[in-house]
Amino acid sequence: MLADRLKTLAPSSTLAVQAKARELRARGVDVISFGAGEPDFDTPERIKDAAVQAMRRGQTKYTEVGGIPELRAAVCAKLKRDQGLDYTPAEILVSCGAKHTLYNIATALLNPGDEVVVPSPFWVSYPEQARLLDAVPVPVETREASGFDLDPARVRDAITPRTKLIVLNSPNNPTGAVFSRAALETVARLAVEHGLWLVSDECYESLTFDGRHVSIASLGPEVKARTLVVNTCSKAYAMTGWRIGYAAGPRDVIRAMTDVQSQVTSNPSSIAQWAAVEALSGPQDDVAKMAGEFDRRRRLIIAGLNALPGMSCVMPKGAFYAFANVSGLFGRTWTHGQTRTTLKGSLDVTGFLLEAARVAVVPGLDFGSDAHVRLSYATSDALITEGLARMKAAIATVS
Ligand code: PMP
Ligand code: GLU
Repeated sequence: MLADRLKTLAPSSTLAVQAKARELRARGVDVISFGAGEPDFDTPERIKDAAVQAMRRGQTKYTEVGGIPELRAAVCAKLKRDQGLDYTPAEILVSCGAKHTLYNIATALLNPGDEVVVPSPFWVSYPEQARLLDAVPVPVETREASGFDLDPARVRDAITPRTKLIVLNSPNNPTGAVFSRAALETVARLAVEHGLWLVSDECYESLTFDGRHVSIASLGPEVKARTLVVNTCSKAYAMTGWRIGYAAGPRDVIRAMTDVQSQVTSNPSSIAQWAAVEALSGPQDDVAKMAGEFDRRRRLIIAGLNALPGMSCVMPKGAFYAFANVSGLFGRTWTHGQTRTTLKGSLDVTGFLLEAARVAVVPGLDFGSDAHVRLSYATSDALITEGLARMKAAIATVS
């Protein structure tokens, strides 16, 4: 019999949609995927070269659990360069992707019954990771009308004596919100007042198109002392498959997380670590170039979505997701073969788009909002245009 914790575990729906699209394609079905969020660009050559050189040098053995000193130094330099944050290598842990980093944090900090405040809509893995550790995710709504900005008043109302941690993600997956400095300042004060930990997931920091990305850790020493800054090479450098993420934070928490990692995975791939040294320390022009492309595609897809009957989408300020409100389609009926389905929620709309338009999107339900679906626009202009045309044609058939 499986462990009790598996009774409530939802597998990652972002990865599930990607797998489904891949499976359909393998069967010859021409499906356009706006599913999993991963850049369609190839990893820049300079980074691949660094990996090849590392292999040639024989750097193919176990490394320090928390990452090679060169990479931890490169992370410190990156955080200073881009966020103005001062860390020492003892305050850095490198893990097998930021998802692993986040789970290390949760394992090191959460006791059963602890509450984790998660602004909603949220990335699918935050609540599930908390639940795996018998902690309790507490979603706190952000409003579409304010571009899904963090709402400090609601965060305050959600804090109880059991609250241990607040998870912030800006730029946000799935909404694309870039949290305002004012909201972050208020939440930082709340965390200090109530003695809470803050996780600042900054995986999309390099993809901030409007506004300015502010790391909450930069708002003062008291805040920094209770913040774990999380980032990854996955998005900025198109390195999703290399699996390098990292955390910066207080030395004792980083040490505890490193101890956890030492018993679970040991070090991340030695070769990927050397590639990451080059990614973070080498010339950064490729990052700006990819970000410029995403910005252009953002405008293309948002304009297209807002022109579709029954759909509307706020302009995301960062990341590469459109979080489209599809509630305008609810109550409409779609006929396929002998079956008539009335669209009632995001799962129905997702099923409808896959069947009728051959377009894969992720249901908003898994991100905490059943009125939305998420589209990743980390794909080509041609596929975005074709996907929008297919959705338009499919929507024209609902009554
Ligand atoms: N945080 C957020 C908000 C994400 O969207 C993702 C997935 N892309 C991650 C963390 C994890 O990224 P990775 O494990 O590839 O570093
Ligand atoms: N984080 C990306 C997404 O939200 C990749 C898939 C995943 O890690 O969940 O689509």
